[in-house]
Amino acid sequence: MCPLCTLDDPERVVREGRHWRVKHNRAPYKGLSLHLVIFAKTHIDSPAELSVEAKAEYFDLVLWAQREFNIPGCGVIMRLGDTRYHGGSIPEHLHGQIMVPDGTVPVEKIFYQERA
Ligand SMILES: [Zn+2]
Repeated sequence: MCPLCTLDDPERVVREGRHWRVKHNRAPYKGLSLHLVIFAKTHIDSPAELSVEAKAEYFDLVLWAQREFNIPGCGVIMRLGDTRYHGGSIPEHLHGQIMVPDGTVPVEKIFYQERA
C-alpha cells in the first residue's frame, strides 16, 4: 500500500490544498533544517495527469512554505515514476521535496554529484 495514500502520519501535515498536501518528512535527510514533502492527494505518477490548476497549486505551496518557514533558499525536487530512476522510496506517487540545508553538511553534498 502506498504510504502517501494511506497517510499514516497525518500529524505531520502542515498544509492541505485542493490537489496537494504538504507534510514534514518522517525521515529527514542529514544536514537539513527543514525537509517537507509535497504530495498529490490522488495516486498519480506523472505531472501529465495534473490539471493546469493543480500545477499552479504546487508552486503556490512552495511559495507558501517559503513564507511560512522563513526559508532563505532551498532545493526543490520532484520524484515521479519508477524508483530506479529517482532513488526515492515511494513508488509511483508524484511528490516533491523542499530541502533546506542547515549548514552542518556542505550544501554540495546535499544537492550535487560529481559531474560526468
Ligand atoms: Zn499513493
